[in-house]
Amino acid sequence: MTATETAIGEPDWRRAADLVEGAGTLALACHVSPDGDALGSMLGLGLALARSGKKVVASFGDRMFEVPRLLRFLPGQDLLVEPAAYPAEPELMITFDASTMERLGLLAPHAGKAGELLVIDHHVSNTRFGTVHLVDPSAASTTMVAEELIHRLGLPVDRSVATCLYTGLVTDTGSFRHSVTTPAAHAMAGRLLETGLRPEELARELWDRSPYAYLPVLGAALGRATLEPDAAGGHGLVWTYVTRADRAAQGLPYDEVEGVIDVVRRVDEAEVAVVLKEDDAGGWNVSTRSKGVVDVARACAALGGGGHARAAGFSSALAVADTMAALRPLLTPPPSHLPPPHPHRTEP
Ligand code: 5GP
Ligand code: MN
Repeated sequence: MTATETAIGEPDWRRAADLVEGAGTLALACHVSPDGDALGSMLGLGLALARSGKKVVASFGDRMFEVPRLLRFLPGQDLLVEPAAYPAEPELMITFDASTMERLGLLAPHAGKAGELLVIDHHVSNTRFGTVHLVDPSAASTTMVAEELIHRLGLPVDRSVATCLYTGLVTDTGSFRHSVTTPAAHAMAGRLLETGLRPEELARELWDRSPYAYLPVLGAALGRATLEPDAAGGHGLVWTYVTRADRAAQGLPYDEVEGVIDVVRRVDEAEVAVVLKEDDAGGWNVSTRSKGVVDVARACAALGGGGHARAAGFSSALAVADTMAALRPLLTPPPSHLPPPHPHRTEP
């Protein structure tokens, strides 16, 4: 990514670089329930800074502080500290992939008390809650913004840093399949591969492994998938859910069911796909995906969540049917989109 292609102005890049260079200790934080882009951007920049001699701590504000199993291969985890050990009033705090202060969870109060708060993100919905913002909605991943900051700081990208940055890039682009897959995204992938990182090893860690117990849980979820052709303004909705009882019966941890949405979203007859996932405490995390007509970020934001137009989520304390009753009417295409003909229904 070059400066002319980003939505971030030169003064912001300079202020960000000055803050980072001037700070003694850097306190890094990404959003709760971190995904590949959140951890990848935080640990990638964190590693690059730590190697340059900076004192770096990194964390995320979950009550159950645990790196998802899928992401435990990421380098740089020795930088992580529990929220309880995080500086109460950081001199400089840097946030990653978090569109709002609330997405920092337990670390939101720390952000509120930080001397300077540098926000690094690519969500169009970012509320600009910091003192300096590197927010580029045209970036495919937060790691794209992090990579440019690393370059501007003159820090080297070795294979470990590249592994972190590539993980955010490849997860947020859906392996270079989603619409955010720009020439700049591929160019960055090319630069990172020059470090010797092995994309097939990363892909296997991220997508091509599960415990055997995943298969019956996936089977149960797929078996109860429901197609509603008339929903989403006639563009179709497919949805299902995974309960903690499903997982308990197989001894499957919560973070193993992240991939269920990737199967459900294949359905041709549905513009929108939804998977409700019950966590160990009985709360629900809802994943939504659209094929481009319905803005699921808007729908999820109305229910207290957020994300991107084609991939978003929210949390719910309601029962499955009640959550769906709240979500369904929000899944509306813009007025310009007339309902399509139903290829899967015959006219009377
Ligand atoms: P996923 O379904 O993969 O968990 O999330 C898809 C996208 O929605 C990601 O960009 C993620 O950060 C965002 N997202 C998921 N849940 C929430 C939420 O509760 N609040 C907000 N603001 N964003 C969410
Ligand atoms: Mn992201």
